[in-house]
Amino acid sequence: MLTKKMVRCLKIKKQYGEQAKRWLASNGWLSNEHMIGKTQRYLLFPLNKSASVDAILKEFSGSVEERNLQKVQKKEGSFKELLKDTIQKRETDRGTASYDVVGDIAVLDIPKGLERCEKSIAWTLRRTHPNIKVVAKRASITEGEYRIRKIKVISGESRTETIHRENGLKFRVDLNKDYFSPRLGTERLRIANLVKPNERVLVMFAGVGPYALAIAKQQPKVKEVVGVEINEHAVELFKDNIRINSKAVFGSLRGNPLAIAEKRIKPLCGDANELVPRLGRFDRIVMPLPKLAHEFLDVAIRAAKKGGTIHFYTFVKVGELAKAKQLCRAAAKKIKITRAVTCGAYAPYINRVCIDLQLC
Ligand code: SAH
Repeated sequence: MLTKKMVRCLKIKKQYGEQAKRWLASNGWLSNEHMIGKTQRYLLFPLNKSASVDAILKEFSGSVEERNLQKVQKKEGSFKELLKDTIQKRETDRGTASYDVVGDIAVLDIPKGLERCEKSIAWTLRRTHPNIKVVAKRASITEGEYRIRKIKVISGESRTETIHRENGLKFRVDLNKDYFSPRLGTERLRIANLVKPNERVLVMFAGVGPYALAIAKQQPKVKEVVGVEINEHAVELFKDNIRINSKAVFGSLRGNPLAIAEKRIKPLCGDANELVPRLGRFDRIVMPLPKLAHEFLDVAIRAAKKGGTIHFYTFVKVGELAKAKQLCRAAAKKIKITRAVTCGAYAPYINRVCIDLQLC
């Protein structure tokens, strides 16, 4: 029998659900004892005892209510359950292994002290997730100009390249040669849904093309999407990703989808600071390089049309959003902040935030 119980939850419109879920989870406030509830237009996120209602209501326009939500039934044979049988209890007490999935590659984050169990962890993951063909572990921090976080294969096929599916698109990516995070899919969709017909859009740090392609898919009548990327390998895969997605993106328009794709989506290889001043003016500029975006803000402002929008990503310590907004306001005389959206955590107490700016 399914048991239900009254629990405090955040009620929020469905379109903000994914973002709210990540934010609550990054603060450790999402209860894992109850299922997420649904009504026709809203989602109900169960909150745990430590959740701060004030902080939640400040971040989101929703309400906090007591609701009847279904209790989570522990699945037999799930990864975490099976892991308990595979490695000794004193080992699991050191922490749980978490992982991201990119295509058919699982990337494990193995807590310190659990390294000698990594083969067992990998084996368990492949047993519970037959679609995973490669299990790797994180082998470095995110580093260098290309923002790559190296991985090392520990089980399965020996490769770091895969095809990841997101928002109805396919992305070829090599995790040891290109940056890619599967956690940003919802945020890319948010941006893509803002684009209007005939806009000229620039993605300053395009990677293998996930923003550019999501934008074109949601708004095939976009005038042009230019993607600038300094990593040559990523640009090659970006070009390939345009080819493999052309039908999914432009299939609804009259004409040859590949010809339309090659005309409307332009991958360029080079340094954004050098290239962007030569590309003319844009209605919208996306800056997904949170660590360094401030170094490129001047160039972006100069490349934006009057009334244009800039999506400026940055890392913000919890409680320091006002400071980050002030830095943006100081960058130009006529600039208006229209929104700030938290889209994931970078480290404990440091969030990735997108500040949406409009040039008046
Ligand atoms: N938009 C992509 C990639 C974001 S990571 C995605 O969402 O997956 C940031 C990207 O910026 C990396 O691919 C990195 O190689 C690129 N980059 C870093 N410095 C750059 C510069 N000066 N000019 C252009 N691209 C740059």
